[in-house]
Amino acid sequence: PSTMSSFDEYIRHWAAIKPDAVALEEGDERATFAELDRRTAQVVALYRQLGVSPGDRIAWLGKNSKLYFELFYAAGRYGAVMVPIGWRLAAPEVAYILADTGAKVLFTGAGLGEAAEKACAELADPPKLLGCDRVRAAIDAADPADFTPVAPDEAVLQLYTSGTTGNPKGAVLSNRNLFALRQPGERAGLDWAVWEEDEAILIAMPCAHIGGTGLGVMAMGGGARAIVQSEFTPEGVLEAFEQGATRMFIVPAALQMVVQHPRAKTTDFSAVKYVFYGAAPIPLDLLREAVRTIPNAGFVQCYGMTETTGTVAVLPPGDHDLAGNERMRSAGHAVPGTQLKIVGEDGAELPRGQVGELAVKSPSNMLGYWNLPQATREALQDGWMHTGDAAYMDEDGYVFIQDRIKDMIISGGENVYPAQVESAIYGHPAVAEVAVIGVPDDHWGEAVKACVVAKPGEEIDPEAIIAWTRERLAGFKVPKSIKVIAALPRNQSGKILRRELRAPYWEGRERQVN
Ligand code: ATP
Ligand code: MG
Repeated sequence: PSTMSSFDEYIRHWAAIKPDAVALEEGDERATFAELDRRTAQVVALYRQLGVSPGDRIAWLGKNSKLYFELFYAAGRYGAVMVPIGWRLAAPEVAYILADTGAKVLFTGAGLGEAAEKACAELADPPKLLGCDRVRAAIDAADPADFTPVAPDEAVLQLYTSGTTGNPKGAVLSNRNLFALRQPGERAGLDWAVWEEDEAILIAMPCAHIGGTGLGVMAMGGGARAIVQSEFTPEGVLEAFEQGATRMFIVPAALQMVVQHPRAKTTDFSAVKYVFYGAAPIPLDLLREAVRTIPNAGFVQCYGMTETTGTVAVLPPGDHDLAGNERMRSAGHAVPGTQLKIVGEDGAELPRGQVGELAVKSPSNMLGYWNLPQATREALQDGWMHTGDAAYMDEDGYVFIQDRIKDMIISGGENVYPAQVESAIYGHPAVAEVAVIGVPDDHWGEAVKACVVAKPGEEIDPEAIIAWTRERLAGFKVPKSIKVIAALPRNQSGKILRRELRAPYWEGRERQVN
């Protein structure tokens, strides 16, 4: 299987090797690999009936479901381009993505029909709408199609970035991008990357993001069983772990809810082999708490982006050392087959230890952004993806992500990375969540401000938070002011929307870093 690079190859391979093993599971619904093979060929027949040709965009608005993965995997065999859209998005945001893609058909998951109609009402040329019950019936009724599988470098997935720093951009990905992590020799010696065939992979992160959709692809490619949960709940994760889920990918905000859940104390985690976490900076104290809560699991930090089809750097279990190893602050080293470098503003590589922009060269780098030729040229230069993340690299090639360049605060000429300040404040016993931003300041240019959410039953004393931070960080990183808020604005990937917190302070002014 190591030389395969497409849905068509992997699906036919597993259907031949282990036809009766479960490939997809959602509640009581199951599809074996043989059924997946047949069903995706039926979906291709449905695509043809709907007038969808290879290269056409089709969209999904819904929670995670077995049906979504069948539609997507069929698109991956046939060459239609699947566009999963986040179901928590507001109607204008959904309409924006639909208009951008020009999708021919919009498939809707359970309970999302009305939201889809609302979004389509805003469009001059709306897609054909098809609800999940009708889709299932149509697939059941179709004869499996005979078709020529799409070439591995053609687009099959158009995944929108999370929209943390602005409008989401459509990253166009191919079969080869999606299966790059499974290439020959690239997993040698990396036990966390070897997916045993009897494993059960929990997919609880949203399918509109690489952490949901990409994990499904990894599970299928490894011949494992994918346990699909419609949406993330901490209870759902704890139950899946008790029932034998061996791995999952989870974002830090969700990991916090799992490990701090009252039931986590009595949950049997013995089946868990690996917890993959990432997509945003993680406070060190949260990471330590997670490692202590699930001590038998190997923790693997993943760094990546939609544009790199997810993970391009990993911090392996051995570097999760509770004794205070500095490595635990790192996002890890490049995955095999991938190169990382840190570049200065002129694009030249910087020496080890110096902070610059992280760039990535990987067979998983996207083909480009949809409809954004200028942004594509800026992002992808000579095959290197420029991440927009500030980072440095140590002598051993471990990268330390500071934060997004756009979120960097310049205070009195010093660069302050919010994630580091957040990680320090997070350790304060009264603090549940924190976001750090730069606000305009006549003296300092920008001043560091912390927006803090109290733990239930706790009260925030701004002076105490400032004093706490002063003990832990250099003076210029200490917040000048604290704002107590009820909850942090987050997008559906669980990322803090610092631009929303910043906006009221910057009306009519321009930030230096933008
Ligand atoms: P947009 O590009 O629309 O602003 P986004 O960058 O949040 O949104 P994603 O592609 O989902 O969209 O996220 C990629 C970004 O997530 C990375 O560029 C980085 O800033 C952050 N990230 C991912 N993994 C990690 C990690 N392990 N540690 C810190 N930050 C991470
Ligand atoms: Mg981004």
